[in-house]
Amino acid sequence: MPIDPREPYDDSNIFARILRGELPCNKVYEDDYALAFHDIRPQAPVHVLVIPKGAYVSWDDFTLKALDGEIAGFMRAVGNVTRELGVDDQGYRLMVNMGGHGHQEVPHLHVHIFGGRQFRFMIAD
Ligand code: 5GP
Repeated sequence: MPIDPREPYDDSNIFARILRGELPCNKVYEDDYALAFHDIRPQAPVHVLVIPKGAYVSWDDFTLKALDGEIAGFMRAVGNVTRELGVDDQGYRLMVNMGGHGHQEVPHLHVHIFGGRQFRFMIAD
């Protein structure tokens, strides 16, 4: 079920628990601003999620409330992850699902990195 992005941040969401180390993840990158780990149900040969360390429900919440330094640090981290994964050479796709129409399921902002194959159509359905 998609989330309601107007709900306050829920500290018990699955990515908050991964950030606190209460649940495991297959980590690929971490710095002061972001944590990146493999998606549990990969939809491409490379499918990694990058999440900010701060408590932000969605892209909307993040771009509204995060400090400039957090936004810059997070954007830089996403780029660092793509280079560490080695997908920068062939190219990759970034995706952020936001709220109901975006079909966002986990209420902590995450950027999907897809890579490792050729993508064609922008929107599947
Ligand atoms: P959304 O639809 O919210 O943009 O995507 C949520 C993503 O989180 C999905 O691709 C889903 O497979 C992934 N996911 C959900 N629960 C977990 C989990 O516990 N661990 C990991 N690594 N990924 C998860």
